[in-house]
Amino acid sequence: REAKRQFRGYALASEIGAGPPHEQLSLIGEMRDALLRQEFEVFYQPKLDLASGRVTGAEALLRWRHPSRGLIPPAQFIPFAEQTGFIREITPWLLDQVVARTAAWRAQGLNLVVSANLSTLDLLHSGLAPLVKRLLASSGLPPGQLCLEITESALMDDPDLALATLNQLAESGVRLSIDDYGAGHASLAYLKSLPVHELKIDQAFIFSLMESGKDAEIVRSTIALGHALGLKVVAEGAETDAELGWLKRAGCDVAQGYGIARPMPGAEVTGWMADQDSAVAR
Ligand code: C2E
Ligand code: MG
Ligand code: MG
Ligand code: MG
Repeated sequence: REAKRQFRGYALASEIGAGPPHEQLSLIGEMRDALLRQEFEVFYQPKLDLASGRVTGAEALLRWRHPSRGLIPPAQFIPFAEQTGFIREITPWLLDQVVARTAAWRAQGLNLVVSANLSTLDLLHSGLAPLVKRLLASSGLPPGQLCLEITESALMDDPDLALATLNQLAESGVRLSIDDYGAGHASLAYLKSLPVHELKIDQAFIFSLMESGKDAEIVRSTIALGHALGLKVVAEGAETDAELGWLKRAGCDVAQGYGIARPMPGAEVTGWMADQDSAVAR
């Protein structure tokens, strides 16, 4: 399995111009410099509460504003950062940014639950839960305003260790979410043992919601499953009003997608929220 993973990392690295091992090393160096030079940037995508029609949360999504290559999406460097272990330097930086931004919004009277994505390596690292506690304590942010998203596949690398980390995180009061649900292979027996609050249905099911009766049924039953387990259900990748209307009628709790807003720089969120409020008022 390790060999397969290495190969996958190698293939992805070559996609962004880092092929042979010495080029991979230079990419790690470049990422380290990028962190120092503040080239990484956190974008935020609003999450809409379907019952109230209000935005109550956002997901933090990483971007690399590369000086010559422009804005690089996470799919082009996060997998490589995971392969090489560099993600261990990115995640603490990201969480610090997210907690500070969420606390600053709170100070302005904007209370959002903000989600950040974790990788497998983060879950296997015993320092994660203490780090989260420190960040919350020093910022004064109520733990319930931070949500951590974990994919099924990240959990399955070492389910027992992942569960231990999740339990520690849950004790600190942060919210936990299963990301890309339905795309991985975690068993229901395992999932029901997790101290999670939210289930995010994988966007592949949402994309074909209106065209495929099977996908519509999968979404409907996943909403029912989530609710039966006491979880908030989020649909990701809702692009059209028709999809948003369908999801609302189906009892889905929260939606996120281009149909509401694309991910945007943190500095644009309050302005976007104000426009949204005046639209709702009209
Ligand atoms: P994810 O956590 O499942 O995030 C959702 C992705 O779907 C985001 O892509 C978002 O921009 C995109 N998306 C949202 N709504 C729509 C829609 O309506 N249509 C379409 N076509 N796409 C939509 P993004 O930002 O490129 O991130 C991709 C993945 O990279 C994320 O998937 C997550 O797994 C990973 N990622 C992003 N930021 C971080 C990070 O800070 N740390 C880690 N470990 N992973 C991250
Ligand atoms: Mg996510
Ligand atoms: Mg997802
Ligand atoms: Mg669609």
